[in-house]
Order: sequence, then C-alpha cells, then structure tokens
Amino acid sequence: MDWVFDGGRVSLDFVNTLRDRYADGRELLVSPAALSEWLGLTGLASVPATSDDLTFALVLRESIDRTARSEGSAADIRLLNETAAAVPLPVPQLGSSGRYLLDVPDPVPAAFAALAVDAIELVASAPLIRVCAADDCGVRFLDASPKRNRQWCSMAKCGNRAKARAHYARTKGS
Ligand SMILES: [Zn+2]
Repeated sequence: MDWVFDGGRVSLDFVNTLRDRYADGRELLVSPAALSEWLGLTGLASVPATSDDLTFALVLRESIDRTARSEGSAADIRLLNETAAAVPLPVPQLGSSGRYLLDVPDPVPAAFAALAVDAIELVASAPLIRVCAADDCGVRFLDASPKRNRQWCSMAKCGNRAKARAHYARTKGS
C-alpha cells in the first residue's frame, strides 16, 4: 500500500488515505483488510475490520477532510461529535517494549472515536492545515514549522521534486 504518514496528525494521515486529491483521488482503503492494515500501522487497532467499518470509515474520513479545511457542514460536525462520544476513549497503556497497548472491548469503534477526537482537537486549536503545494500531490498536513511556511507534505518527496524542477527550469532558461 502507498500509505503516507506526513500529515503530522493521525486524523490528517487518515484523510490522506485517499491519495491524489489534487485530481479525482486514488483510494487506498479499498477493502476491510486495507483498513485493518492502516489501523494496525497507526497503532489505533489491531483487529480485523468489517465491511461496515470500511463504509463508516470512508464517510468519517471525508467529514474530517471537509471540517479540517473549514468546509464542514452541520452534518459533518455532528458526525465528528457523535463519533467522538460513541465509545469511551481507551486509556493508553505502556507495554514493556515501549509500545502502546490499547486493550478495549470494541477496538475499531474506539479507533474511530480517537480519530474524531484528534480531528476535533486539531480544528479547535486553529492550526494551519495545509494542502501540499506540489500540483500532483494533494496531501493534507499540519504546518508546525517555526515560520509556519511549510509548503510540501514531505521535503524528501514533493519538496525535492519541486526544487529539481525549479533548477531545471533555471538552467534551461539561461
Ligand atoms: Zn506532497
């Protein structure tokens, strides 16, 4: 899977599971197994997701995206609030290897609640949520740079490509 974790917040990484948002979008959450994989990689849940979970995840994800870009409808905001309140948030526990162990009865709903809470905290803290400046990317990320002037989702990916293009344009022009 072509996952990206450049969002700076787990709720934005979740939004970025629909890649290529600059165009029509490229879905990475193509199956319950893909959702399970993503939830496992983020540490939110390590159980199989169902097709109902997947259907809900896609709806929640787009509500988070619109809300994070200040385009959320009343229904989007209600969905975030209801999802956040649907199950009690798990209390994180440190394991002996340093990893979190989240032992909860309903891991997938708890993961959705954690994503909704993260999105609510993000939006409520009036952060700088940006869209990557590369015209063929579309990844959303939190700009926490000192000067609040971060342009690219990742310097290693889009930033260096943009610099290479600019360099090529300069040398070609001279
Ligand atoms: Zn990018």
